[in-house]
Amino acid sequence: MKITNVETLLLHVPVTNMRVADARHQLTNWGVVGAIIHTDAGLQGYGYTGTHAHLGTDRLIRDCIRHAFAPLLTGEDPRDVRRLWEKLYHEPSIRWVGRAGITQMALSAIDIALWDLKAKAAEMPLWKLLGGDENKRLEAYNTDGGWINWTVQQLIESAEAEVKEGFRGLKLKVGHPEFFTDLERIEAVRKAIPPGVKLSVDANGRWDLPTAVRFGRRLRDFDVFWFEEPIWFDDVRGHAALARAIETPIAIGEQLYSIDAFAQFLEAGAVHYVQPDATRLGGITPWLQVADLAAAHRLPVVPHAGAMIQVHLQLGLAHPACGLLEYIPWLRVCFDEPAVVKGGFFEVPQQPGAGTTIKPERIARFGID
Ligand code: MG
Repeated sequence: MKITNVETLLLHVPVTNMRVADARHQLTNWGVVGAIIHTDAGLQGYGYTGTHAHLGTDRLIRDCIRHAFAPLLTGEDPRDVRRLWEKLYHEPSIRWVGRAGITQMALSAIDIALWDLKAKAAEMPLWKLLGGDENKRLEAYNTDGGWINWTVQQLIESAEAEVKEGFRGLKLKVGHPEFFTDLERIEAVRKAIPPGVKLSVDANGRWDLPTAVRFGRRLRDFDVFWFEEPIWFDDVRGHAALARAIETPIAIGEQLYSIDAFAQFLEAGAVHYVQPDATRLGGITPWLQVADLAAAHRLPVVPHAGAMIQVHLQLGLAHPACGLLEYIPWLRVCFDEPAVVKGGFFEVPQQPGAGTTIKPERIARFGID
């Protein structure tokens, strides 16, 4: 099988009826920027990264796919995914301009499309191709009910509704300038849900170390499951110091763009819940290496998914270190087989591929530029 051409993809999908925000971002649309890889066998692979739908930067990612990576793929066998990842990642002229951000997100899109093709060619879902367990119970936790711009009443109503739906895990966004506001919101939600429901908090890297220590020491009062992105994303030493200072486990990974970065956090004892994101890290190929590395440290992997659940559902089912996966349903209208949560657990997808194929009518509806 040979790659004949690489088509690019740029969609902006509305997130919800309400504006959503965390401590650093606000958004009304989710951006899907990626590639459809065509082959001489008639199969197509779909892969993409996720953005906050900023047209200027979305175009940069798309152009990186189109002009930097796509010409390196024509004529290649898409099933040689690992060889191709090495070829693309180590292309000197691309490495010279980026090992994080735009280039890694563009590479992620291509790598995911290649794995989608490999699984389609094998006529099996990706989780099965990777040796997963069809009886695995992958638990869902819901992030789409805990936004920082929502009122306490909205948080409580949404938490109660999610628990009623069967979710056993929720996440609240924190990071107000004065953290007592966040403690009040956490306390209100904790009181509204059964004690067995996991309640995590996510500061999106908003605070400095002393603030995170003071806030973090209060989290045990509310049995908080993890404290996500407490301080600046790249600060390994700070996270290690925080991990020694508080009881609540630390989760980090969505802003890390390399295996090396994860290795540094793991070696420093600076992370407890490891959150690699295949759409930002460079694709499934490095994601599997990070998950194996975390497993070697005997730590759980909880993929950062955001709205990019489809591919992470496949990986979560495939990897033994994963037992829990984030749920944000913004993109579900785009797929034939969208991720479904029943009674708090993900259903196991059955269609061949990585679950990333987007319906043509959705590309027509949400596609721009
Ligand atoms: Mg997060």
